[in-house]
Parts: sequence; structure tokens; C-alpha cells
Amino acid sequence: MYVLESLNQAPPHDRHISDSTRVDVLNRDGHACRKCHWKYTDAHAGDPRKLLELHHLDHHATGGTNDTVNLITLCNVHHDELHAKHMDKAAALAWVA
Ligand SMILES: [Zn+2]
Ligand SMILES: [Zn+2]
Repeated sequence: MYVLESLNQAPPHDRHISDSTRVDVLNRDGHACRKCHWKYTDAHAGDPRKLLELHHLDHHATGGTNDTVNLITLCNVHHDELHAKHMDKAAALAWVA
């Protein structure tokens, strides 16, 4: 568990979200990735999708808040992809639409 958790550490700007906010965002998004609709109940061996994570649309560094409207639910694969592509808020929203 220790190794898994450290490998799946959320990017720095997505840390420090309160449990109540996390629950609100997950409930709003139906506990599914906004890009591929993956859920924990879909997990199976060989699928790289293992976790649901919350992403800040406006990054903390540029004034983003921990409000639910600034957060979206993504699986670990699509969260990594979004960060790899350095999407801003508009690009991210278009990408999950
Ligand atoms: Zn996904
Ligand atoms: Zn993120």
C-alpha cells in the first residue's frame, strides 16, 4: 500500500482539498471520471485506471480555489493526461465535454 500510494500522489496543486468538498464533487460527478466515466466498480486487473482524483480547473498558483465549481473528478489516467498536456480551464472543460 505504501508504494502504491506514493506512486499515485496527486500533483501538488491538487492537494489539500477538504473531505467535505471532495465528497460534494464526487457526488456531483456521479463518482465517475468526467472524461471516460470510469468508476471504482469498473476496476479490474490490467486496467491502468485505479483511482478517482480531483483536479483544480484554475490552479492554486493562479488563484484557483478549493470550491466545488473549480474542481472536476478524473481517473488517474486522464488526470495524468490533462497535466501532461498543460491544459488551462477552458481547454480542460472542452476536453471533458
Ligand atoms: Zn478517465
Ligand atoms: Zn490536477
